[in-house]
Amino acid sequence: MKGDPNIDFWRIFYIYHYIEFIKMNDLTKSSTQGYQTGPELNPILDFAVIGAGIAGLTAASKISALGHKLAVFEKARGTGGRLSSKRVVYDGGEAMAFDLGCVSITGKSEIFSQQLESWHSGGVIAPWWMDDQNKTHYVAVSRNSALTRHLSENLECHFSTRVSSLQRIDDIWHLFTFNERGENEGGENDRGEKLLAKAKNVILATPPAQAYDLLPAGSRFKGALESVKVGAQWVMGLELDNDLSGLPAISYPKSDTVYSISQESCKPGRRNREFNVGSTILQVQASQNWTRDHLESTHEQVKGALMRELEQHLQQPLRITNAYVHRWLYSCITQGIETKEGYLWDEEGLGLIGDYLNTDFDGVESAWLSGQQLAEQVTS
Ligand SMILES: Cc1cc2nc3c(=O)[nH]c(=O)nc-3n(C[C@H](O)[C@H](O)[C@H](O)COP(=O)(O)OP(=O)(O)OC[C@H]3O[C@@H](n4cnc5c(N)ncnc54)[C@H](O)[C@@H]3O)c2cc1C
Repeated sequence: MKGDPNIDFWRIFYIYHYIEFIKMNDLTKSSTQGYQTGPELNPILDFAVIGAGIAGLTAASKISALGHKLAVFEKARGTGGRLSSKRVVYDGGEAMAFDLGCVSITGKSEIFSQQLESWHSGGVIAPWWMDDQNKTHYVAVSRNSALTRHLSENLECHFSTRVSSLQRIDDIWHLFTFNERGENEGGENDRGEKLLAKAKNVILATPPAQAYDLLPAGSRFKGALESVKVGAQWVMGLELDNDLSGLPAISYPKSDTVYSISQESCKPGRRNREFNVGSTILQVQASQNWTRDHLESTHEQVKGALMRELEQHLQQPLRITNAYVHRWLYSCITQGIETKEGYLWDEEGLGLIGDYLNTDFDGVESAWLSGQQLAEQVTS
């Protein structure tokens, strides 16, 4: 039986475009996990940003909004860096979620305070508590990692992609990574690594030690980075059956072991159908001195020591249902680099940003300002 030639044409037309659409979607998905290597697949970027913490994503979103071709490369599976959150799923499907790094965000500078107000009115962050200097402490809703996820919304981000070295060849930055097995062998350069991307400009938005490792030999920034000091810190997330409603939002016990106790479950928007229903969740930070002396302790030893100290401080036996510990090798900056601009930038298009480059400010504010200031410089 002969079909209508018009109908056949449209049938073939739709099938062809449907197949093309599927192919395109698959490509998009894989490109967020690992970059398509090879110059013919990826044109030279205007900017490559290494690190998807608050500094990197602040700079990236501002630069990308002006139409520059930009990609972000992040070694972890998602955004956040030290502003990330942890979701721990236990046997039986129960889950606990807490902020693994940064506890809350405050603004000292006018520009960052305005930014906080803008994120607040957009529903990205919410006020948590007010300190005795009338400063509002904000948290992102419904996890602190939501803030960097928000900043990354329109960006090309490549997760699980560790940049292992940088080389400048013919005036273009070449970013390399390990091969598929995570080893440096059988690759494309003399170190056995695989070419990841080429870019006219590179922004290193990693903690200072990791930026140091990526800087090419002879870079004038190496000397400055050698002076930076960053403390390590053990952090514990704890789920309890105890009623601790009398405990302040955040407390700093007089203890050599514990630096702070934060009530995660009383942060705005932290209880939902899936997480933390009805239980008390605490984030407990060990002091930097105690961490330094117990850097190589096992997770079980750290859990035991922090729980004993907590029990003593709260003066009641703890009914613990779940516990999780994490060691931050690079937690808070104890000595940064004093820069007038808040970033480092050289004539070859290599820049450094992060919380260690704005010594007048701390933590998230310092990192955000740094990203913002470099973006203004390179786009002006
Ligand atoms: C336990 C803890 C509590 C804190 N509490 C507060 C607080 O209450 N208030 C506050 O303001 N600040 C706090 N801070 C500090 C704050 O979190 C940081 O200052 C801020 O998040 C730093 O942002 P950043 O973008 O500079 O760096 P990061 O967040 O460290 O981001 C760097 C990113 O680079 C990635 N990266 C590194 N090397 C590579 C590589 N080779 N290739 C690809 N990616 C790479 C990392 O995975 C990371 O995601 C706290 C930090 C910690 C750890």
